[in-house]
Amino acid sequence: MSKVFALNEGFYSVDQSKEFKPFNPVLDDPKSRPASIFVHVQPFLVELKDDLILLDTGLGYRNAEGELIIHANIIKEGYNPNDVTKVVMSHLHFDHAGGMMMHNGNNWEPSFPNADYYIQSDELAFALSKESKSYRREPLEQLRRYTGLHLMEGDGWINSSISFEITGAHCPFHQTIKIMEDGTTFFYGGDIMPEAIQVIRRFIAKYDFDGRLAMEWRERYAKLAVEESWKCLMYHDHKHGIVEFEYFETGIRIKSSLNQYSNE
Ligand SMILES: [Zn+2]
Repeated sequence: MSKVFALNEGFYSVDQSKEFKPFNPVLDDPKSRPASIFVHVQPFLVELKDDLILLDTGLGYRNAEGELIIHANIIKEGYNPNDVTKVVMSHLHFDHAGGMMMHNGNNWEPSFPNADYYIQSDELAFALSKESKSYRREPLEQLRRYTGLHLMEGDGWINSSISFEITGAHCPFHQTIKIMEDGTTFFYGGDIMPEAIQVIRRFIAKYDFDGRLAMEWRERYAKLAVEESWKCLMYHDHKHGIVEFEYFETGIRIKSSLNQYSNE
């Protein structure tokens, strides 16, 4: 049994400040956000036989009720945030890592207190090594003391269903995650494969640490995704959540696109 949910946190503009500002495409004028890119944010919740897995954790913003949006989204799908067993991170840029820890008064504590957190060891060290607009130091310092933290070293497996591979390219220690259960493969490419359009067109993104390398990884993964019928989970895509691709004539196109998947 497996189920996947795209947990939609909405649409944002991002400029040089690296701040994510909510953007409503119907009401807001794009000209009011000069030199910005516009991105969607959606972590994924994956239910397997023995696990409830969160792939990246969103921005950590709260809704009007003061509740973490990621918590509200999990509850909306019929789950309890306390039931999450694993939080697996592609990388620690704050648009992916903001929801890992929550601020309660003076302290940061894990937003998923019963989960093991899986983070690439070198990515955490890199995030803490210098001042950067892309990382938030304080919650990461606190996270280091969390007993549920598992530091991953290089490529490998978390268990017999979940594997990870370092790609670098978006940031030096970015990793991708593959989940296989009952013959179905879910591929989470993080910011190497954040939008379906980037799979369909050759694309070098300015925001990548090494844009050419990111494109090469994307092409490699796209080929495997078609040939092995992967369900690809797209974190920054405003139209697509869980996507299968297929070959046509000389290129690749979308075969199916869902926001929720269940093989029950
Ligand atoms: Zn991102």
